[in-house]
This record gives sequence, C-alpha cells and structure tokens, in this order.
Amino acid sequence: QKLRDLLISRITDVPDYPKPGVMFKDITPLLADAGAFTALTDALAALCERYRADKVVGLEARGFILAAPVAVRAGVGFVPVRKAGKLPGATLSQAYELEYGTAEIEIHAEALGVGERVLVIDDVLATGGTAEASLKLIRRAGAQVAGVAVLMELGFLNGRERLESVLDGAPLDALIQV
Ligand code: IMP
Repeated sequence: QKLRDLLISRITDVPDYPKPGVMFKDITPLLADAGAFTALTDALAALCERYRADKVVGLEARGFILAAPVAVRAGVGFVPVRKAGKLPGATLSQAYELEYGTAEIEIHAEALGVGERVLVIDDVLATGGTAEASLKLIRRAGAQVAGVAVLMELGFLNGRERLESVLDGAPLDALIQV
C-alpha cells in the first residue's frame, strides 16, 4: 500500500490528451523522482525473479524506460518490441486493432531463445491490444510468456479480459489499478 500510494502520487492526470475526452496518465513526474523510480524498478524486478524470467520485453516507448532498469536490476537481458519499421534485423510482425484502424509491432526474430521465459513490461494497460499482440509475437518467436507486468491498469477499458485467453494462465500484475 505504501508503494502504491507513492507511485499514484507521482502520476498526473492530463485531460483531453492526446485527444478530447481522453484522460491521459502521465508518468514523467514518477520517472523524475529518484525514490519513486527506484521503488518501481525494484517492484518490477521482484516480479521478474518471482516468475523466473530469463528476459524482459519492453513495449515502445514508455515500456522501454521501465523495462531497461528492471533488466539490469534483475540480471536478465532486455528485448524491445517496437513499432513497425524501427528494428534493423529480421523481424516478426503482428498487427492489431486500434479504435480507428490498425497498428503493427515487431520483434527481432532471433532475440529470444526457444523456451526462454519472458516478462512483458509496459507502463499502462488500456484496451490490452498492444500487450495481446506482444504476447503473440513472443510465442511466435518460440519463447514462453512468464508474465505481464504494468505500472497501471485502466480497469474500465477491460484490457485484462481481452488478455485472458492469450495469457494462457500466465500472471498479469498491475502495481496500480484505476
Ligand atoms: P492498449 O493497447 O489500448 O492497452 O494501450 C496501451 C498502450 O497505450 C501502452 O503502450 C501505453 O503506453 C499507451 N497508453 C494508453 N493510455 C495511456 C495513458 O493514459 N497514459 C500513458 N500511456 C497510455
């Protein structure tokens, strides 16, 4: 509860961003606070250890900021999942539905070892579309999903339900629920 209160106190609400009617959760004040960022990193690294992850996958772009220090703290490698066209090597791609249109994310085809256990990290779970597509990529790359960990889950968007089938029993941890 102390950790939750600290993290919540460092996340601000920005109304009508990126478009009218949306309340954006801005984590940049949390990142700027050394104590809060360290506490967040430690909590995510503890999940990494609990689920015996061999790698962490960070989702572009804020997932990178959270996952990289977790990888160092937990002593595991970091692998990026990026928007299409950003990775230089051979990639696997996965398309997914957005509110309007579709998006596509990619992973380096050789970044994960067969059977490796992967913890997926992102800042916010909203509709779950990004996380769902990333889990498909990880499985297609031959690795196992050890879990998904997010700083904040926006419960009213039902991302947890969307992810349920593709999680296939793997844990979904949110440090904060809204
Ligand atoms: P989803 O695919 O709908 O679950 O959206 C999740 C992605 O959108 C994540 O990568 C988040 O970084 C981003 N996102 C959605 N809503 C917010 C927000 O309120 N604050 C920060 N990021 C958000």
